[in-house]
Amino acid sequence: MDLELSESHLAFQEEVENFLVSNWRSDLAKDPEAISVFRRTATGAGYLYRNVPEIYGGSGQSPDVLKAKIIRESFAGVRAPREMPGVGMMMLVPTLLDCGSELQKQSFIPRTLTGEYRWAQGYSEPGAGSDLASLRTKGELVDGHWLINGQKIWTTMAHKCTHMFALVRTEPDAGKHAGISYLLFELDQPGVTIRPLKQMNGDKEFCEVFFEDARAPADWIVGERGEGWRVSKSTLKHERNSVGAASGSKDLFDKLVKQARKTTLNERPAIEDPLVRDRLAKIQGHVMAHLCAGYYQLSCDAGGADAGIVGLMNKMNTTVIGHEIAAAASEVIGDSNLQMPDYKVGRPGAEKWVNQQMLSLAAALGGGTSNINLNIIAERGLGLPRD
Ligand SMILES: Cc1cc2nc3c(=O)[nH]c(=O)nc-3n(C[C@H](O)[C@H](O)[C@H](O)COP(=O)(O)OP(=O)(O)OC[C@H]3O[C@@H](n4cnc5c(N)ncnc54)[C@H](O)[C@@H]3O)c2cc1C
Repeated sequence: MDLELSESHLAFQEEVENFLVSNWRSDLAKDPEAISVFRRTATGAGYLYRNVPEIYGGSGQSPDVLKAKIIRESFAGVRAPREMPGVGMMMLVPTLLDCGSELQKQSFIPRTLTGEYRWAQGYSEPGAGSDLASLRTKGELVDGHWLINGQKIWTTMAHKCTHMFALVRTEPDAGKHAGISYLLFELDQPGVTIRPLKQMNGDKEFCEVFFEDARAPADWIVGERGEGWRVSKSTLKHERNSVGAASGSKDLFDKLVKQARKTTLNERPAIEDPLVRDRLAKIQGHVMAHLCAGYYQLSCDAGGADAGIVGLMNKMNTTVIGHEIAAAASEVIGDSNLQMPDYKVGRPGAEKWVNQQMLSLAAALGGGTSNINLNIIAERGLGLPRD
């Protein structure tokens, strides 16, 4: 794709920059009310939630990869807030736009965009990870409500969420995939118990979630009964796209270069060391390739074409580049690499990189493991024999 900005895109860039000058100041970053006002104004101006129709609280713009790039870079340049983070915006909203009923779109999307509804993803179970379709959490329709019984695990931020979208087995007599439905429900109810799990970096982001007759209204099912697997594929596609976004690799690489400038190695800035420079140049090559693949994927999405396995390749790119950057950073920061992250002291520089190193391992698992992704790329993308 052509990344050269046309006259009209240059005018758009100026418009976005003027908007930011008039509407955002860095001292607002700690004020939640000011952030929500800014998000509302930026949505009204057409800069946020561009792919969400206006009737559901978005700005309903037609797809334009270059405009999206201009907005992302201009907002990042002044650290202005973008869309609400989290799986609700990244995964559930696009899934509801693809597969939800009109009532579900109207009830859930606007409140998710404002952050009033925060969603957890209830897929994995103790016996169902890569082989997700073997999940056993049950849903039974009784007196106008789904009664849900079972357990989910590795549920990111469930303890801070208000709602869950989950895959549950509602058709026990149907085949493995055909017996699954996609349900929405509130987490703050007597039948739900949430237990955070402590991770190796000391943080608690994951949870186990237990259901004992948890309830969901009958019409909070996305798609028909037994269609959950089809609906979940839509969510998974959006999950992989967001995990594989190339801007994340670029931001991380920029931080690595900054770190190499300010760290001293053999009595000079690490960035002047030939071995460090060589390593940075190799990683930069991978980041550039990831950016190009990302633009290819974005232009396919914008034109309604299927990017094929490029989405999966981009998830692999995020994973591999994340490992490379974390490993390079931990060598540059040297002995500080032995420190554990300490959230209480506000995570000073070196500890942040140690945390990054641990987090980079997670990318090889979340949203489908690297082994599974590589098998799909090989078998479905390249037509190689089944593993
Ligand atoms: C950061 C992060 C966030 C997550 N957030 C959520 C969340 O919010 N909600 C949620 O539901 N889940 C979440 N998960 C869970 C994630 O989806 C699972 O960890 C993942 O699907 C793998 O399942 P598993 O852990 O049971 O591993 P397993 O499936 O048991 O796999 C173990 C190992 O065996 C390999 N393996 C398994 N089957 C095959 C095969 N057929 N061929 C080759 N290799 C194979 C895997 O690649 C892996 O290396 C999250 C995980 C992470 C790391």
